[in-house]
Amino acid sequence: MSFDGRKVILDPEEMPREWYNILPDLPKPLPPPLHPVTKEPIKPSDLEPIFPKELIKQEMSDERWIRIPEEVLEVYRLWRPTPLIRAKRLEEALKTPAKIYYKYEGVSPPGSHKPNTAVAQAYYNMKEGVERLTTETGAGQWGSALSFATRLFDMKCTVYMVKVSYHQKPYRRILMETWGGEVIPSPSDRTESGRRILEKDPDNTGSLGIAISEAVEDAAKHENTNYSLGSVLNHVLLHQTIIGLEAKKQFELIDEKPDVLIGCVGGGSNFAGFCYPFIKDAEKEGIRIVAVEPAACPTLTAGEYRYDYGDTVGLTPLLMMYTLGHDFMPPPIHAGGLRYHGDAPTLSLLVAEGVIEAVAVKQIPTFEAGLLFARTEGIVPAPESNHAIRVAIDEALKAKEEGEEKVIAFNLSGHGYFDLAAYDDYLYGRLKDT
Ligand SMILES: *Cc1c(COP(=O)(O)O)cnc(C)c1O
Repeated sequence: MSFDGRKVILDPEEMPREWYNILPDLPKPLPPPLHPVTKEPIKPSDLEPIFPKELIKQEMSDERWIRIPEEVLEVYRLWRPTPLIRAKRLEEALKTPAKIYYKYEGVSPPGSHKPNTAVAQAYYNMKEGVERLTTETGAGQWGSALSFATRLFDMKCTVYMVKVSYHQKPYRRILMETWGGEVIPSPSDRTESGRRILEKDPDNTGSLGIAISEAVEDAAKHENTNYSLGSVLNHVLLHQTIIGLEAKKQFELIDEKPDVLIGCVGGGSNFAGFCYPFIKDAEKEGIRIVAVEPAACPTLTAGEYRYDYGDTVGLTPLLMMYTLGHDFMPPPIHAGGLRYHGDAPTLSLLVAEGVIEAVAVKQIPTFEAGLLFARTEGIVPAPESNHAIRVAIDEALKAKEEGEEKVIAFNLSGHGYFDLAAYDDYLYGRLKDT
C-alpha cells in the first residue's frame, strides 16, 4: 500500500480474493423471483437456456464469500486495484471541514465499473463451453464492457444497441467494434421480436426493453449462445463488491472511517458493489448509506415496492423490487445508465427496511457538481456519476454549516469522455429540468 495524503494505492497482492455475497446477511429473506407465466418461484433449470450453471448458483447462493477464479483476477490486474483518492482540491473549493474520498472505477479500459462483472460472466460462460454472448445496450457502456471481456476469453459478442443511440452516439459503437463485438441497431430483422416491431413501425427508433427481448431471443434460439445482463441481478452485484472490499481495506490502512457512503443508482450494481461490504459496520457504527437516483426516473423515492417484470415486453421473471412500472418511459436525460424502471431486489429490500437512504436529484444540479469536480480534481465524470458527486457536495456543504469534520466517500463509477455532448448541452444552456 502507498498513501501520499491524496491517493491510497493497494499493491497487486492486496487485491481481495473473494467477492462478498449479501444474501445471507439481509435483514429478511429475499422474496424469490417468479416465473413470468406460471407466477411460481423460478427453478434453477428455468434459467439454464440463457445462463451458465455457475452464475445461476451464485444468483441463489447463501455462502457469504465466493472465491474469485485466478483467471478473473488475472484480467482484473489490468486495471485493479483501483485508487481511493482524497478530493482535497474539491474540499478546498467548498471550504468544508469534511474530508471527501472517492473510489475511481473509470481507470478500467471501458471506463467504468461494468467490466468487474463482464469479465466474470464471460469467464464462467467460457468455462461451460459457451462461444457467444448476447446483450443489449443503451448508450453503450455495458455493451463495450462485454465486448472487451468476451474478447479476452476468445468469445464472440453480439450487442443489440438501441437504434437511436446507435446513430447518435457512434463512439461507443466504434469502441465495441474495436474489441471485436458485433453491434446491431435494434429493432432489427435478426429476431422475431424485432421483425414484429418493424412490420408495424418500420421507423421505430428502439428502446432498452425491445433490445433486451432481441438479445434474450437470440440466446435462447442458438446453441452455445448465452445472454448476459449488466446490473440488477444478485450475481452482478456480487461481482461488483470487489470495489467496496478494496475501499474498505484502503480506509483501514490509512486509519480512516467513512461516516457517509454515496453512490448513484441505475439498476444498483456500482452502488451495491461499493456499499454492501460496509453494511455490517454501518449498522454497528452509524455509517449512513445514501443511494442517489435522477428525479426524472425516481424508482426508489417514488416507485412502489412490488413484483414487476425486468423488461418492457414481460419476458423476464418477475422480481420483487421498487418499480415505476415496466412500461414506464423515462424522459431522455443524459445519464442513460440511470434510466431503468426497476432496481436490484437486494437494494430494494434494504431501502424498504430503512438500512439504506434514497434521494433523487435533478439533472442540471448534477452537471453543476460534475463541472466543479472536473475543474478541481481534473477527471470529467460520467453523467451517471455526477449524481453521486452532487450529494457528496451537498453533504460537505452541510458539514460546513454544522462545523462537522465528517468523512464522506462516494463511488466515481466512470469517466465521461464519451459523454462530452452532454457537457456541451450543459455548457451552452440546452439542458432542461422539468
Ligand atoms: C451503467 C452505469 C451506471 C448505472 O448502473 P448501475 O448498475 O446502477 O451501477 C452508473 N455509472 C456508470 C458510469 C455506468 O456506466
